[in-house]
Amino acid sequence: MDTRTLNNLNTLHPKFQPSAINAWTEAQAAMPANVKIIVIQGLRTFAESDALYAQGRTAPGAIVTKAAAGQSYHNYGLAFDFAMVTNGQDDYVVGPNWMKVVSIMEANGMFWGGNFSGGFQDNPHFENRYDYNWRQLLALHNAGTFVPGTTYVQI
Ligand SMILES: [Zn+2]
Repeated sequence: MDTRTLNNLNTLHPKFQPSAINAWTEAQAAMPANVKIIVIQGLRTFAESDALYAQGRTAPGAIVTKAAAGQSYHNYGLAFDFAMVTNGQDDYVVGPNWMKVVSIMEANGMFWGGNFSGGFQDNPHFENRYDYNWRQLLALHNAGTFVPGTTYVQI
């Protein structure tokens, strides 16, 4: 496992992290030798989400997200984004290799961002909801209901 993937998977919620590692390992093993699956984002803190949400609204730049802090599964360590690297180049083609990754992640309980409704597809994104919506997760966060010793909500 590459360091970037390992570091990002290590930021995930303790309930999600082991299955995410297993799923990534399974997905990488299913790829041809010239294709690498790199996890480029895991946990996104509330502060990081606030900064991203401000971009294009109250701060310079283009709008890059629809999710304010607390509205993304990333904020709870329950989502990650990946990049596909083919022959050393970023590869955004949602072709057979990409869809193989999707099927493996889905088989491991994840929802694919490519299936988001409302015309906003997020092809690099996977999340494991554990039957919680973001409002329920935010309520747990605001109540301080955390896994002991952590800032991950207790689910
Ligand atoms: Zn994402």
